[in-house]
This record gives sequence, structure tokens and C-alpha cells, in this order.
Amino acid sequence: MSSKKINIVTLGCSKNVVDSEKLLKQLSAGGYEVVYNSDDISVNTVIINTCGFINDAKEESIDTILRYVKAREAGHIENLYVMGCLSERYLDALKHEIPEVKRYFGVNNMSDVLNELGVKLRNDLLTDRTLTGPGHYAYLKISEGCDRTCAFCSIPLIRGKYISRPVEELVKEASLLAEKGVKELILIAQDLSYYGLDIYRKQSLTSLVSELLKIESLEWIRLHYLYPANFPMDLIPLIKKNPRICRYIDIPIQHISNKMLGLMRRAHDGTETKSILNKIRDEIPGTAIRTTLIAGHPGETEEDYNELKNFISEFRFDRLGVFPYSHEEGTYSYNEYKDEIPDDVKESRVAELMEIQQNISAELNKSLIGKMLKVIIDRKEGEFFVGRTEYDSPEVDQEVLINDQYDLVPGNFYNVLITQSADFDLYGKPVSNS
Ligand code: SF4
Repeated sequence: MSSKKINIVTLGCSKNVVDSEKLLKQLSAGGYEVVYNSDDISVNTVIINTCGFINDAKEESIDTILRYVKAREAGHIENLYVMGCLSERYLDALKHEIPEVKRYFGVNNMSDVLNELGVKLRNDLLTDRTLTGPGHYAYLKISEGCDRTCAFCSIPLIRGKYISRPVEELVKEASLLAEKGVKELILIAQDLSYYGLDIYRKQSLTSLVSELLKIESLEWIRLHYLYPANFPMDLIPLIKKNPRICRYIDIPIQHISNKMLGLMRRAHDGTETKSILNKIRDEIPGTAIRTTLIAGHPGETEEDYNELKNFISEFRFDRLGVFPYSHEEGTYSYNEYKDEIPDDVKESRVAELMEIQQNISAELNKSLIGKMLKVIIDRKEGEFFVGRTEYDSPEVDQEVLINDQYDLVPGNFYNVLITQSADFDLYGKPVSNS
């Protein structure tokens, strides 16, 4: 067992991945040998970066901690640390319930973690990261926290108020990523729309994207999570004139009924939501619009649910995710409403909405047969190369499968002729390098 070898295990969303990548960089600069999500049992120390957003995520985090507690008891590892959203949210309970963990840290505590491991924080490396993905795409976290007051959401309780990172710092980080070979930069935050309001007193996402576009080797810039209210409209002309900004808008609407959006304490009603969505579709035709919904939030009657269902069928989102409502301690919904909708009703609403989306997706995919699309290859899997178009983000969206008889290179772009479609996937053959 090497006393200088650390395994960082990351759960949850891409924001956690970025936090782990920054920690990996600092630890290796501090003399540690670091591995990531590894099964290697020759490590001395394991750090688990947890997620504590909703029930399923919490369970997965706790199961993982318990698994490593067992590994420690069996003598495979010596030190077990836990950091991230779960320990930020439930610090006292975790210390009490799982005392085998040597120390718990919350979010934004990188210097404390480093101190514990005898490493001094290197300020000169704060914009640098050890990439853990395939290397041709990377996430850029442009802010921490969230200033919105959505009734169901625990994020502001965990991650605090919105703090934008300055444009210069983000451009520096993005340039370093580009130098490492990143071709697709994926901007993430709890809410991209809000970016800049705290530090520049004005919404500044469009200026940030304009600056990032100056890094020429970034072929694709993708934007995730644009809150519908105060959608930065000045982004639309920038997208229209820049083919390097993916025709992909991820705008989580959560619901469409005015009553439900009111209960959810969202800052947009159904009419405003539709108007923004229609404007995006009218002004940037061909853009893939992705959204997420919550089914079974307290107060959702059959009538509200039907309104949502009809809207989904009519608007025909290109990409859609639906989550059953999770009653989270400390949120407004938890304090003010009863979790009155039975789990089986929530689940059946989720399943029905996804079935509608499956049909829409199958039709949209079928219409792409015979079209030529630019595809970035993410990996080889079994007998296929697996790639994506600009209309799809890694991990969450559909993929393009290409038979491995072709000589393709992961990380490269190809023009691919779509030959076949499935509900949530496409098949194609490469025609030329892009
Ligand atoms: S905008 Fe998103 S992260 Fe912020 S409170 Fe609402 S749902 Fe949560």
C-alpha cells in the first residue's frame, strides 16, 4: 500500500467532477500519486466526493461510503475522507452515523482537504485541472451556488449564494483546457442566465461566451442550464452568427401550469415560458431544445399534470428529462407543503411523460436518416465508435453509433451520414473528416 497514493471517487453531477479535477491537480503537484474512480486497492487514502441533491443521489453516496468503510476494515485502505454536497448538508448526522470516516469536509473546502493531507494550496494552479474524462471535452464551471428561490430545490442550502467567477479567470482556465486538447467546452452552473449579476451588476454570459470564442481551438462551446426567467436574449444573435456555439439550449422549465410554477416559486409563468421557448425556436431554427421537468410536486392535480402532458406533446422538445418530486428537508416545499402525491403516481407520471418523449424522439430521429451531421467521436465501445452531434451533450443525451470497420479516432470530428435511427440513438457511416 503506497502512503502517497490517493483515489478520488466522484459521485453526482459534472460540477463535482470539476471540483475533483482541481483537487487532483493540487494533490499531484503536492507529491501524491492520484488515481480517479479507481478499483486499485493499493492506495493508502480514498476521498469520496459526494452528491446530496435528491434521495437517490444521497443513497448512492451513503452506499459508496459504506463500501469503503468495509474496505478500510478489511485493511485495504488506511484513511477514508468524505467531501462534497452530502457532507455539507448532513455533517453532524454523518459524523454520528459513520464515525469510521477520518474527516468530513463540505463543498468549497479544497484548502482544508489539502491541509489535512499536508499539501499547501498552490494559487498558481487554481485554474488548472487534471482532466478525468476522455480529454476532448471538458466542463467549465462559471459560478458557484444559486440565488433563485425555487421551492423544491436544496442546492442553495448546500452550495450557498451565487458567486460568479471573473471572465479573465474563466478565459485562463479555458485556454489551459484548450492547450490540453479540449475541443468541446461545456459551460455549467446552477444557472448560466444569472452569470455576472453579482460581480458585474449585469448579466454577462454573452460577454463571457464572446471572450471564450477567441480561443480558436475550441470547436464547440455548449451551454447548460439556462434558467427561463431573464433568459439572456443578447445570446441569441451571438449564437446565430457563430456556428461554434452548439445549436443546443438546455432550459429547465420544471412545469408549464401557472399554478404549479407559482407553487414551485419559479420566477416565470407558463406564458413567459412558452414565449421564450418559441423565440428560441423561431430565431435559431434547428436548435435542439432540452428541458427538465418535475412530476408530482405537491399541489399537482390531474388537471395540472394534463396541462404539462399536452404541452410536451405540442411543443415537442428535442431532449427531455423528467424527475419524480423528492421531498427535501429544509426546502420551502418541505416546510410549507405536504408530500401528498403517492410515489406510484409520481412514477407513473414520469413514465408517461417519458413515453411521449420517446415517440417524439423516435420521429425526430427518423427524419434525420439521409442527413449528413458533424459528429465528435467520444469512445470505442464493443463493435461501435460512439459519438455525438452538436445537438447532444455527453452523459445525458443520445449518441451516434458507427460500426468499427471504419478507422476513426476518438476526439476527432467526422461528417457522418445517418443511415438508421432508434428511439434515442442514431446510426451512421463516416463520409469524411470534418
Ligand atoms: S435555479 Fe436551479 S439550482 Fe437554483 S434554486 Fe432553482 S432549481 Fe435550484
